[in-house]
Amino acid sequence: MRAAVYPGSFDPITYGHIDVIQRAKKIIGTLFVAVAAKPPKEMAFSAEERLSMVKEAAAGLEGVRVNLFEGLLVEYTLKVGAQGIIRGLRALTDFEYEFQMALTNRKLCDQIETVFLMPSEAYSYLSSSMIKEIARLGGDLSAFVPPFVCEKLREKFGK
Ligand code: ADP
Repeated sequence: MRAAVYPGSFDPITYGHIDVIQRAKKIIGTLFVAVAAKPPKEMAFSAEERLSMVKEAAAGLEGVRVNLFEGLLVEYTLKVGAQGIIRGLRALTDFEYEFQMALTNRKLCDQIETVFLMPSEAYSYLSSSMIKEIARLGGDLSAFVPPFVCEKLREKFGK
């Protein structure tokens, strides 16, 4: 695939997301990591904070571009000239939601294919919400997120 979009809220980016980015890069020319500007859920970090953390995590990765996005994902995908959407698939719990979203996006735009990538098993249980919970309780986050994200979480949750 020449180009694909990897969308998410990245609140914050974790080693699981980074693992998906690195795997996607092996099969895709240009990867547009798209940080949702206004996700439906309430976020701990602002759009700018989430964007800047993803940019820092992707710095130095060739062919990876990071932007904020709003509106319909299929429209954004067409706008940047990509042919596919990348999503990470962790456990079975992800499947139902991802299945529904992939088929809905296909209905909206038949030219775009959704590709699922499985992270390393070491990260397959990781989620941003779990990480925020650990941060709130003052736990060690070093196995889950890069050091600069740990720092941001410490600032945000005061532990
Ligand atoms: P959402 O868009 O549902 O808020 P996220 O922003 O957390 O999801 O994640 C964006 C994408 O990355 C989703 O496809 C999600 O399944 C995937 N993802 C999140 N955490 C991991 C992980 N630990 N390993 C692999 N994929 C992940």
